[in-house]
Formats: sequence, C-alpha cells, structure tokens
Amino acid sequence: MGGGGVMGEDTLKPCPFCGQQPRLTDRASNHTASGWLYIVSCCCGGHKANAHQISETFEEVRKRWNTRSEGE
Ligand SMILES: [Zn+2]
Repeated sequence: MGGGGVMGEDTLKPCPFCGQQPRLTDRASNHTASGWLYIVSCCCGGHKANAHQISETFEEVRKRWNTRSEGE
C-alpha cells in the first residue's frame, strides 16, 4: 500500500476496448473549481476513440468511466 494521492484506482473497471486496467492520472489545474483534474485513460490507444474520461473530481471521472464501460 502506497501513500500517494491517487486513490481507488482499483475501483475502475477494465478498459472496454482491450480489457486492461486503465490508468488514473491526477494533476493540478487552473481550469476547474476543485483545482484538480482527473484523467482515466488506457495505454491501448483507446483515447483516440474517446475512451478517456476527464473530470475535476475522482468520483465523477470514475462514475463516467465505469458507466460507459457497462455499455457492452
Ligand atoms: Zn485499453
């Protein structure tokens, strides 16, 4: 168990395009109310097909990613 700022990455569903675990990135942003930007993406290149999700909160980006993944 690490003590990093990224939380709950294991609660993200696998990528709907390749089945691998997606990557969660958080970074500071001047363009969101929270001051942070959370990005869920996958190394398979699915981002080219709008596979990535971006939100200013982890809860929101997780919900978007997981909801979209249930479309199959
Ligand atoms: Zn993928």
